[in-house]
Amino acid sequence: MTEEAQTQSSMPKAYEPGRVEQKWYRFWLEKGYFTPRIDPEKKPFVIIMPPPNVTGELHVGHALTATLEDIMTRWHRMKGEPTLWLPGLDHAGIAAQVVVEQLLAKEGLDRHQLGREKFLERMRRWAESCRHTIAEQHQRLGASCDWSRERFTLDAGPSRAVRTAFVRLYNKGLIYRGERIINWCPRCATALSDLEVSHKDVQGHLYYVNYPLAEGQGFITVATTRPETILGDTAVAVNPKDKRFKPLIGKKVILPAVAREIPVLADEAVDPDFGTGAVKITPAHDPVDFEVAQRQGLPLVNIMNPDATMNENAGPYAGLDRFSCRKAILADLERDGLLKKVEPYSHSVGHCDRCQTVIEPVASKQWFVKVKPLAQPATEAIISGRIRIIPEHFTKVYLNWMEDIRDWCISRQLWWGHRIPVWYCRDCGELTVSIEDAKACADCGSANIEQDPDVLDTWFSSALWPHSTLGWPDDSEDLSYFYPTTVMETGYDILFFWVARMIMMGIEDTGEIPFNTVYLHGLVRDEKGEKMSKVRGNVLNPLDTLEQYGTDALRFALSTGTSPGNDIKLTPARLEAGRNFANKLWNATRFIVGSAKDAKPSPQGPAEPPLEDRWILSRLACTVASVTSLMADFQFGEAQRQIYDFLWGEFCDWYLEIAKIRLRSEAAASPLPILVSVMETSLRLLHPFMPFLTEELWHNLSGCLPSEKRGQSISIAPYPEPDEAAINPESERVMAAVIEITRTIRNVRAEHRVASQKWLPARIYADELLNPLTPYAHTIETLARAKPVTLHDRRQERPQGENTLVVVLKDTEVAIPMESMVDLKAERKRLSAEIARVEADLTRLEERLGDRDFLSKAPAAVIDRERDKLAARKDRREKLREQLTKLG
Ligand SMILES: [Zn+2]
Ligand SMILES: [Zn+2]
Repeated sequence: MTEEAQTQSSMPKAYEPGRVEQKWYRFWLEKGYFTPRIDPEKKPFVIIMPPPNVTGELHVGHALTATLEDIMTRWHRMKGEPTLWLPGLDHAGIAAQVVVEQLLAKEGLDRHQLGREKFLERMRRWAESCRHTIAEQHQRLGASCDWSRERFTLDAGPSRAVRTAFVRLYNKGLIYRGERIINWCPRCATALSDLEVSHKDVQGHLYYVNYPLAEGQGFITVATTRPETILGDTAVAVNPKDKRFKPLIGKKVILPAVAREIPVLADEAVDPDFGTGAVKITPAHDPVDFEVAQRQGLPLVNIMNPDATMNENAGPYAGLDRFSCRKAILADLERDGLLKKVEPYSHSVGHCDRCQTVIEPVASKQWFVKVKPLAQPATEAIISGRIRIIPEHFTKVYLNWMEDIRDWCISRQLWWGHRIPVWYCRDCGELTVSIEDAKACADCGSANIEQDPDVLDTWFSSALWPHSTLGWPDDSEDLSYFYPTTVMETGYDILFFWVARMIMMGIEDTGEIPFNTVYLHGLVRDEKGEKMSKVRGNVLNPLDTLEQYGTDALRFALSTGTSPGNDIKLTPARLEAGRNFANKLWNATRFIVGSAKDAKPSPQGPAEPPLEDRWILSRLACTVASVTSLMADFQFGEAQRQIYDFLWGEFCDWYLEIAKIRLRSEAAASPLPILVSVMETSLRLLHPFMPFLTEELWHNLSGCLPSEKRGQSISIAPYPEPDEAAINPESERVMAAVIEITRTIRNVRAEHRVASQKWLPARIYADELLNPLTPYAHTIETLARAKPVTLHDRRQERPQGENTLVVVLKDTEVAIPMESMVDLKAERKRLSAEIARVEADLTRLEERLGDRDFLSKAPAAVIDRERDKLAARKDRREKLREQLTKLG
């Protein structure tokens, strides 16, 4: 065994993430670091985790969320604040129900065959297995959340919060049941909120249909994109100011296909420029028409079953699917001569976000939250700055949305979720709305009651998440200490679904804002900038990348370049960069630990520490100051980049290399105390970003630390604080010159392809820096493979007649004799031969251009080309001659 191998054998040669990650996570859990101690003297830092859906596994977007929240959490924990990061899961209503329905379909079953109770049992088992998977994945990501406070939206506590909130809003008149046009997904067989519908432009048709007048001759023509809804028309409307139709107002027309008589009436809502200016009114299947019908007192005729087949109101078309009905009705209109014309027409059609089925707007009895009164204080909280949204430009988006907010349909025709706490009395028809399960009608006392079969929109429970997880409606210790929470960190895509509703419900239920800061992160995209999706096949599974690169490399890649609101690219190159960084730090620590083991007592050092020591301490102090302010400003990507640049670009590349020279020299003061101390501080600085690697390295390094500096775990060690006294501009200036000179010599070597075993002599000219640089001649020699390196006063006379390459730098000049790089004799020979070749060319061209015969016969373009060539050759000869003269 060589001496070196022996001294470093305590640390394996390479970093193996798989070997250390589980060990440390278990250690952190056992020590209970993630469970905060309530200390009334201190202000806590609190993040409630956006609960992942129980629809399967975590994807890379969750990994980004977990990484960012863990960075914040670990940073605040190291700052000594009682820190709570509360994890949880969302039952995810329709999304999870669809997943389990698909599993059932594979067994040839559907939920109706199982029945509500058995189906819910299946759902619960599914949710439980997801809960395990997701918790395990979060642990592998290093998420330092408090598992003792983990919550699930369907747990008893949050469920009671849901019922309490519902009953309170109902009693205040802010929840009502009413017939409204809702978005109906025929496949999922449920109502959807506006946010769950995606609008796509579809190339369809505009059909012009003649409605015959009931009396006398003539028609009124209406245009529609959905001719099957003719069956549900209850009027034709025109604008009261539209002169064309004035005589027809008050007349009746006969509905084609079903021969029902309907009135022609005037309504301000009609746009005279759309279609013919007369529009059909289908109140049960169109939100605008519904409002017209409310104003005009028109009846509602619902023509569809929940599965989007036509019902008995569709007369001869009953039983047909809506799209088959469209075909049949068009054929009949054509036959009867009532289809006036058909135009191609591009229009927006709502699709179910879950299953992409075309949404049917349909009038239906549903539960709604009257949102306007809730939106007002939620708007005020943002305007007053009590809640800050990062990045700031989302504030405007939020405020615009709050202004146009519409009532929120909260009932869903699903089984999986919080069942609506309303019971209908079969005897007196009254409703009982209750937090506890009702046993009897609140009005007549009859036990003949039945609970509403529907469940609440899954976002209803999500809207209560910050306070329901902390114990609301009880006045718990957690609620009073940890609420309002500090940061809500989530994707910008759910600002309305979730963030806005949490603010509304938080203020409504508790009288206080739910969080002080909303941090919105971007989406994770692939190398080409495309959104990751299963359909595109570009999804990076976080677990696969963990196996391949290690958790810290994944976290590093996810936080590289991240800034609030901006999308990030996750690429193999970034993952590799993360892994390389981990290896670099591993090797550096291993070197330091190994060197410390066989350190000989250092000779009495000079009174003043060497300049490079003051330099690295100054650079560290600047980095700590800058990182601290970036972290406070939520600029985690930039903070990480600066730590990376310091550790790799300054500490490893320069200080460590210079330290190696000192370690080899018996005379110099040992750099080990500085190596150990800078590395130890840097590990603490980096810990929130790369928790596993830093914990492992910190323990390896701790043997080199004075005993009072050793600790149990880096995760509870204090975060570095900026040390103003260490900032030393003078040492930074000198070291910047050493680095610049070394880089320049290295570049010159590379440009002139100097063989690696060859040493170049170099003269450095300096003025002010002459004295401080002089002791670094040997350092530059070693780092740049230059010998001898000599320092000279800039005003000194330079050697004459020597062919020298001079590079002028910021404070210095570097001079390298050409002779040292190139074989002058061979180079002269090469240049002379080249000149001879060019001259032969020149002679030929000159002869040609002097030939009268050629000049008179050749086309002008050819002659011009020859002249251009001649000029180019002359130019080339000049340059070659110059080079030759330089060689002397
Ligand atoms: Zn659907
Ligand atoms: Zn009753």
